[in-house]
Amino acid sequence: MLLKIQFQTTPEQAKDQVFLENKIRKELKLGDANFSFKWNRRSIDARKKEIKINCSFEVFLDGESIPDVPSFLPKNVHSEKAVAIVGSGPAGLFAALRALELGLKPIIFERGKDVRSRRRDLAKLNKESIVNPESNYCFGEGGAGTYSDGKLYTRSKKRGDIQRALEWFVHFGATEDILVDAHPHIGTNKLPQIIVAMREEILRCGGEVHFNAKVTDFVSVDGKISGIEINGSNVLSFEYVILATGHSARDIFELFVKKNWALEAKPFALGVRIEHAQSLIDKIQYSGRLNDEFLPPASYSLVTQVNGRGVYSFCMCPGGIIAPCATSDGEVVTNGWSPSKRNNPYANSGIVVSVGPEDFPHDTSPLACLNFQREVEQKCWEAAGKNQQVPAQRLVDFIEGRKSKDLPETSYQPGLTSTDLNAVLPPLIAENLRLALMDFGKKLYGFMTNDAVLHAPESRTSSPVQIPRNEDLQHPDVKNLYPCAEGAGYAGGIISAAIDGMKCMDEIYNTLSAT
Ligand SMILES: Cc1cc2nc3c(=O)[nH]c(=O)nc-3n(C[C@H](O)[C@H](O)[C@H](O)COP(=O)(O)OP(=O)(O)OC[C@H]3O[C@@H](n4cnc5c(N)ncnc54)[C@H](O)[C@@H]3O)c2cc1C
Repeated sequence: MLLKIQFQTTPEQAKDQVFLENKIRKELKLGDANFSFKWNRRSIDARKKEIKINCSFEVFLDGESIPDVPSFLPKNVHSEKAVAIVGSGPAGLFAALRALELGLKPIIFERGKDVRSRRRDLAKLNKESIVNPESNYCFGEGGAGTYSDGKLYTRSKKRGDIQRALEWFVHFGATEDILVDAHPHIGTNKLPQIIVAMREEILRCGGEVHFNAKVTDFVSVDGKISGIEINGSNVLSFEYVILATGHSARDIFELFVKKNWALEAKPFALGVRIEHAQSLIDKIQYSGRLNDEFLPPASYSLVTQVNGRGVYSFCMCPGGIIAPCATSDGEVVTNGWSPSKRNNPYANSGIVVSVGPEDFPHDTSPLACLNFQREVEQKCWEAAGKNQQVPAQRLVDFIEGRKSKDLPETSYQPGLTSTDLNAVLPPLIAENLRLALMDFGKKLYGFMTNDAVLHAPESRTSSPVQIPRNEDLQHPDVKNLYPCAEGAGYAGGIISAAIDGMKCMDEIYNTLSAT
């Protein structure tokens, strides 16, 4: 028999198995019955001075054993119907894994390199400011997800889909904690081996993964996809193509414009990445508790409205590092990651201002938001010495409009150039950021310190372009082409991208089954 129980404990008690067992026994009045239990949900309630852990358990009686995490059940697809998947990010990989379950043969084309070779390009980017346009923090095996922070929470409400995506992460090597924690996190150090395990399974079952294989054109006949061109020459025939190229594949958006295929400018958000000492954030969020072995490094989530516009914290990384995420020379971009232990001394987060096509009435092209994004990235590159250093400013100096005399240590490896960001960022961004940061300073006492540093820009928050699709998930101008996940504007983050990848593959399967 399965019972469920919820209660609150202190952080210490939540890690004490004997305490938990006794508490469950007492609360459920189990006497001396034999039982086993497993965590169902775990979250931190730090709203009051005394921090509590919300615990939820499943309890199994009558000798019933704890059920295993549902397994991933692939088929042998060596000789099955092929589906081309462009991009090996979370969307592409999960579409491929779903194909294995459904009995379809996934063939992935990825412009970048495999995880291990990619790591060398990241080292060059960090140490020598050399941007490889095909292999960087956004491009390569596993996409932007591989060297990302690996936070796995999503605003998506589809609990069943989220659960399945999380279970697959566990199947390929993540710990079962991600099935329980309210804010699950894998960490940059652990993601690459999970991605490799997914690739090995795809190959073992008969799928294919091609690296250094950039899709440079689509071939269509009578409004229906018939093939893809790889690296400018090799044309391969496919009846079904999933396009999961992410928000940074600008050449794909430009190709759509050239082909006159429907495309729309999409609202996104742009701003800066702020870095504080992690110890300060812990102190603010945990009522002064510092270096507490029973609590994870603290995070925050901030949101406000300024001049009718949303400004919010984005992808907050406790114990993290700010990474150079440009995808070509002549631009700078920041984002953040953290290792599984989140044990770096810094806390960083994007603080971003919502923008939309209505902000650029002079630019009526579908690339209006992308053009704005690119201009800001290029201007920041110029302002910081035309390498991968980023323009930076202390928080209070930014609010008061003066260039910082010096800058504290940063986790951003290529380095910083002291700059008045009010002069580099467009007024639309700088003014709304300033007002929002002042508001955040009031909401989180201690946040407003001149030891915090703004790194500019945080610009790849989501896609600035939407590739439309019909109800059957196909592009309105090209049948059997499935615009997918973040790049097409249908996902934001690892889990929602993974879910959209599965969804596109399901749709192809349904179409095939109906014919
Ligand atoms: C540093 C960093 C930290 C992040 N942290 C988090 C986090 O903690 N939690 C979270 O949910 N999200 C995080 N994200 C965002 C997350 O990684 C993305 O939302 C997610 O990866 C999007 O998945 P996707 O499959 O749609 O696209 P992507 O992951 O962008 O994958 C697209 C793939 O397509 C390939 N590609 C592009 N063009 C072509 C082409 N023409 N031909 C062939 N291949 C092509 C690219 O090389 C890439 O591999 C982070 C991102 C970064 C960069």
